[in-house]
Amino acid sequence: MKLNELRPGQSARVRAVGGEGALRQHFLDMGVLPGAVLTLVQLAPLGDPMELRIHNYELTMRLADAGRIDIEPIPTPAATPAPSGEKERLEHPGLGEEGRFHPKGSGDPLPEGTTLRFALVGNQNSGKTTLFNQLTGSNQHVGNFPGVTVDRKSGQIKGFQNTEVVDLPGIYSLSPYSKEEIVSRQYILNDKPTGIINIVDATNIERNLYLTMQLMELETPLVLALNMMDEVRGNGGSILINEMEQQLGVPVVPISAAKNEGVDELIDHAIHIAKFQEKPRRTDFCDESDRGGAVHRCLHGIMHLIEDHARDAGIPVRFAATKLVEGDASILAALRLDENEIRITEAIIAQMEQERGLDRAAAIADMRFSFITKLTKACVVKPEESRERERSRRVDGILTGKYTAIPAFLGIMALVFWLTFGVIGKYLQDLLALGIDKLTALLDSSLTAWGTDHMIHSLLIDGVMQGVGSVLSFLPIIVTLFFFLSLLEDTGYMARIAFVTDKLLRRIGLSGRSIVPMLMGFGCSVPSIMACRTLPSERDRKMTVMLIPFMSCSAKLPIYGLFSSLFFPGYAPLVMTALYLLGILKGVIVALITKRTSFKGEAVPFVMELPNYRMPSAKNILRLIWYKSRDFITRAFTVIFIASIVIWFMTSFNFRFELVEESKDSMLSVIAGWIAPLFRPIGFGDWRITTALITGFMAKESVVSTLSVLLGGTGALTSLLSLRSAAALLVFCLLYTPCVAAIAAVRRELGRKWAAGMVLLQCTVAWLCAGAVYLLGALVF
Ligand code: GDP
Ligand code: MG
Repeated sequence: MKLNELRPGQSARVRAVGGEGALRQHFLDMGVLPGAVLTLVQLAPLGDPMELRIHNYELTMRLADAGRIDIEPIPTPAATPAPSGEKERLEHPGLGEEGRFHPKGSGDPLPEGTTLRFALVGNQNSGKTTLFNQLTGSNQHVGNFPGVTVDRKSGQIKGFQNTEVVDLPGIYSLSPYSKEEIVSRQYILNDKPTGIINIVDATNIERNLYLTMQLMELETPLVLALNMMDEVRGNGGSILINEMEQQLGVPVVPISAAKNEGVDELIDHAIHIAKFQEKPRRTDFCDESDRGGAVHRCLHGIMHLIEDHARDAGIPVRFAATKLVEGDASILAALRLDENEIRITEAIIAQMEQERGLDRAAAIADMRFSFITKLTKACVVKPEESRERERSRRVDGILTGKYTAIPAFLGIMALVFWLTFGVIGKYLQDLLALGIDKLTALLDSSLTAWGTDHMIHSLLIDGVMQGVGSVLSFLPIIVTLFFFLSLLEDTGYMARIAFVTDKLLRRIGLSGRSIVPMLMGFGCSVPSIMACRTLPSERDRKMTVMLIPFMSCSAKLPIYGLFSSLFFPGYAPLVMTALYLLGILKGVIVALITKRTSFKGEAVPFVMELPNYRMPSAKNILRLIWYKSRDFITRAFTVIFIASIVIWFMTSFNFRFELVEESKDSMLSVIAGWIAPLFRPIGFGDWRITTALITGFMAKESVVSTLSVLLGGTGALTSLLSLRSAAALLVFCLLYTPCVAAIAAVRRELGRKWAAGMVLLQCTVAWLCAGAVYLLGALVF
């Protein structure tokens, strides 16, 4: 029987995992491997994907992928494991039960003044961001890893000179299949941090330790931070810290990042292991007594065989051997084995597969999970069904329920939009706009009073204040949207949104995770483009960014309003709805085309964990908002500042660089005059309209203001445009190039080439569609 035939509530044991490459490795890494017991919790409201419960955590999986997994149904095991009460429940003062675990304790420390660099590594939702903020305080830098748009945050540990923590992306394994995993393992292998702080969600310890095993193989000093201990304790669970330290050979520190408990002890231990270069005492997780020790013999055989190559390549030998057995092509290449050696390793692996009865990748995953099972049996006093999980289940009953999920989703999104654009964003934006206007007026009058040169006056008022001011007024909206976005993300609802909408998004080649940035695009493209950072793969990220401008942003509303009232009085709602739908339709068409061309690559398998709902910490959210605003102000500002000056220059001067009296003599109007013929075939070849479109490039709202300046009021438009030209112009405005701020955001996320490509794509699509409307209009109007 296949997994996709299982019905909700039924359980099964996995017999074999099909598929290949990234997808299969991902299954195995997430614990879906032969022998594992899983339960189908529910199907998403649209029938796909499914939610599984396995090893005590919830995963999503698409039905098509589930079709590759062979299972045998078994009776559903008791939902809550009875607490194994015989083990004493211990309070943890923070330092473990007896104090500290340090194999060396003394020895020769690194020379004074060496910078201790720590990599902070952990699963998604393990509390990494929260811990990072606790460790570093406000002293952080955000950048990108070289060559890829994966966030790289780093900062100094509060109060410790010569330290640096690098926050690596949230990952589940060190397989070379996602950008995040590759970036993380390259960072550890090549940049050689002095120590690793591995953060583990103690409420989900089986899942989290899978990554720990791989990190320990890297032979870099490591301290294990057991996070969320407040929840474990609160539910009557406990973890035998000393026992765990003994078994793993690394210091284990129970902490609660959210409550700032145990963090100081964690810092002590981290600095100690880094300073004394205390490597994990255990890197060996194979069991020689397990089924004749096939995996054990295979791994050790290969380790000896490749020892010299691993040393030359600078890869820890145990890690190299495990990855070779898993079938990791990049490690194989890095080791530069001889042909004979490759043949021997392959023969050893084939022998192991035969003896063990599992293929290579599954055998390694199984080895890790077996070790984890033994370890947790010895060290973890399981709590009763936790309150948090029960609460999550109740909330999920509504938020992912068959009939309630979609209404709840629409309701929540509507609320977010209404609050952002209708209440908070609007109010703050008006306030800020008022402030900017006041400031401009003040500057204006003082410049006049000081008798400043006319040109400088114009540069400051019409150029800088106008351009930068109009973009700056986006800030409140961006801040508010990010506030809600991080609320959705940190509570765990975002993962559910992805789960619920995945089926729809899949049709256009994306996954459910892209829905939120796209929806936010109806508000403002800038924060939406920035929000694509949270998407799991480079391909999804790029594709989503390219689609966002098709979601008509709120700055275009004044244009629609003006033209509807002039040309289609009484039909404004109809016109607007049609425009919004047209934008979406175009986006879908572009997605369907690019899915087969530029974005052909494989979609990331949608195997995603559904974390418990948690209360996000206010500190985290405030900090995020602060960084996003700072980012927006500083970086987008520079681009917009320059662009404002350029546009001002072009509207104020002619080609002999003389200041012009009237804008119709300016450079911009001459250029508009050149471009205007391009628009003649589609119905609006007037230079004034072209000029308005060019200024719309700065900010969409200025299309209307430019028109009113150039025409001396908008009423004249009716004599300038026919009904069908107006319709064509509206469609053009809907689809043509995003504004400077959005382009700057794209450039920052994806680079110059993509930004230019987007402008070109949008303009072409806009021109073609406007042309089509103009032609069709001849028949209708
Ligand atoms: P990340 O995805 O690994 O960066 O995880 P976050 O730092 O965003 O944390 C995920 C969620 O867990 C947030 O809602 C946090 O407030 C919450 N959280 C983090 N640490 C703790 C903790 O020690 N105890 C509890 N109860 N919640 C925590
Ligand atoms: Mg985070």
